[in-house]
Amino acid sequence: MSANGTVIETGIIFDIQRASLHDGPGLRTTVFLKGCPLRCAWCHNPESQKREPQVGQSGKVYGRRMSVKEVMEVVRADRSFYESSGGGMTVSGGEPTVQFEFCRALLEAAKCEGIHTCLDTCGQVSHEGLQELLPWVDLFHFDLKHWNAAGHRQWTGVDGSLIQENLDWLLEQGARIHLRCPIIPGVNDDAEHAAFLDRWEEHPGIEYLERLPYHTIGNAKYEDLGMTVPQF
Ligand code: SF4
Repeated sequence: MSANGTVIETGIIFDIQRASLHDGPGLRTTVFLKGCPLRCAWCHNPESQKREPQVGQSGKVYGRRMSVKEVMEVVRADRSFYESSGGGMTVSGGEPTVQFEFCRALLEAAKCEGIHTCLDTCGQVSHEGLQELLPWVDLFHFDLKHWNAAGHRQWTGVDGSLIQENLDWLLEQGARIHLRCPIIPGVNDDAEHAAFLDRWEEHPGIEYLERLPYHTIGNAKYEDLGMTVPQF
């Protein structure tokens, strides 16, 4: 519900990918919501950072408003593939909880229809928000970006303390968690971060830890949006 008590039925998305194999188990439909509280220097989805729709220099529009009903019509279309592959819906971003009510409504709608749900989050979300989302999330994809607070702040804009608290809390709740860890040259490709990830990989509450290589797939979008292209 919004502050005035009305249900948020629409949100701003910048993509929906069907038949995705990389956003959780099985074949999935991934819904990408705009808006992110972080500014990771290597972000490969720069069009996800601002919550509002944007128009690139090419004329391409990044972001469109869709209702929960419209998104669910797309998600539902692949139900048979989810059932045969063990897949479902992933809500990603940006940081999807920036559009909190829309994100919650999508997860709730899918879960109520028996569709497996995955939340792809950077973890920078209020404790109360996470608590509210927990019943609607079957699997968390949770990012770990830097082993210490100063480095986390330098490269993402936040010190990572709330992210760490939220990860600890999810573990206490027994949530299913996959950790996703971008390895960026000159940022976190050092021995300290490697040891940090090794420790998390051995944690009994973590199902899986994935190290993700840096890539330049987002560079054209930086240029189109008039943003400085990252150099690593
Ligand atoms: S959390 Fe993800 S979407 Fe947000 S700035 Fe970082 S890489 Fe980009």
